[in-house]
Amino acid sequence: MNVAIIGTGYVGTVTGACFAELGHNVVCVDIDSRKVDLINAGIPPIHEPELAELLKKHARAGLRATVDYNDAIPSSDIAFICVGTPSDEDGRIDLSIVRSASESIGDALKLADRDSYHVVVVKSTVVPGTTENVVAPLVRGERDDVGIAMNPEFLREGKAVYDFMNPDKIVIGGDPRSAGMVARLYEKIPCKATLTDIRTAEMIKYANNSFLATKISYANEIGNICKKLEIDVYEVMSAIGKDFRISEHFLNAGAGFGGSCFPKDVKALIGKAEELGYDPLILRAVVRVNEEQPMRMIELLVKQIGDVRGRRIAILGLAFKNDTDDIREARSIPVIRKLLGMGASVAAYDPLAAENMRTVFPDVEYCQSAADALSGADGCLIMTEWDEFRSLDREFDAMNEIVVIDGRRAVSLDRGVYEGICW
Ligand code: NAD
Repeated sequence: MNVAIIGTGYVGTVTGACFAELGHNVVCVDIDSRKVDLINAGIPPIHEPELAELLKKHARAGLRATVDYNDAIPSSDIAFICVGTPSDEDGRIDLSIVRSASESIGDALKLADRDSYHVVVVKSTVVPGTTENVVAPLVRGERDDVGIAMNPEFLREGKAVYDFMNPDKIVIGGDPRSAGMVARLYEKIPCKATLTDIRTAEMIKYANNSFLATKISYANEIGNICKKLEIDVYEVMSAIGKDFRISEHFLNAGAGFGGSCFPKDVKALIGKAEELGYDPLILRAVVRVNEEQPMRMIELLVKQIGDVRGRRIAILGLAFKNDTDDIREARSIPVIRKLLGMGASVAAYDPLAAENMRTVFPDVEYCQSAADALSGADGCLIMTEWDEFRSLDREFDAMNEIVVIDGRRAVSLDRGVYEGICW
């Protein structure tokens, strides 16, 4: 099938590359010509394992990119909206990018052959009602022969290609004809699609992410209580995870969740609930625990070393999780902001995300290795669970004094001061 992908960020690029791998003809559209040029050169615009191989294989063969909607949409059978859906300043969903992409699709569809059937699919995470009330009127215009569907994405950054090709669920909302066309795209993937209506598909994505975020905040809350009782929360969670009703996943207590999805999705669902006159008590608590959690790292540090003014603090890990360069809502951000505000000097190291973080904190010292960041440091905070941190050992000896506060249970140290945030 001829597929158009609108927006070539984490979701769009991976979706485009994977559909090309599944044998479809893909054209990606982005307003950012830098990303378009990179994709056409077979180079991923973001860091994601396995993506470079796929782009190299398919660029300019089954996959190309353009900034021109008119070049992509009229000849496509199906177009996926994969643009960002950030939070506005009140935490509610900001649909301005979705609106703008929908308008551009609508304009380009005016040029399409009148006899052809087109389906526009929303893959971006949008609150229930958006696809039918916002996207559909804009893409259809005067045309009633444009099908609409909703196909939320569940991939994890850092494992995005694997997750796309090996999903545990594919959810498609829409009328039988449109949803059937979307389902055919995934035919070669051995996973039975869940077919439903559009609003339910939209809600499934929010319920899914909010539940996972709730598990993490729950583990953190139990972890904070365990810490006071000198109980190892990891032992507790490992045991309760054996209960099949709970499962062992997403119970790692630590510095909290970040990323482009959980924080904004939970807030967007809170905003939608408020709009409907419902006060979402659990979701509010999930956000509150998550916002307070990284600050506990600083409390523990100050308890150990006192005033941080003028002291060198090593931050190991900037990305919101390992295997990605994405720093959106990373827990390292409020921690660095607070430390700088307290007069500390911050020496940071991350294998991938330093360049992205430089745009947020230009005055931080970005080091080439964990050893460089630790050298001469008065304290160290571990903010991301990078594998390479697990083998750190002698590097800590170069600190002024070994004081390590671990927010991810990434290292184990048998000397100096080592404290886990929740253990
Ligand atoms: P992103 O910000 O990485 O990418 C969005 C892309 O859209 C950018 O390249 C941007 O230049 C482009 N864009 C902006 N306006 C455009 C326009 N008018 N026309 C064409 N392109 C335009 O976003 P993302 O992380 O890929 O997320 C996209 C959506 O998928 C969001 O709704 C997100 O919640 C959801 N989602 C993300 C993930 C994830 O792990 N990142 C997982 C599941 C779902």
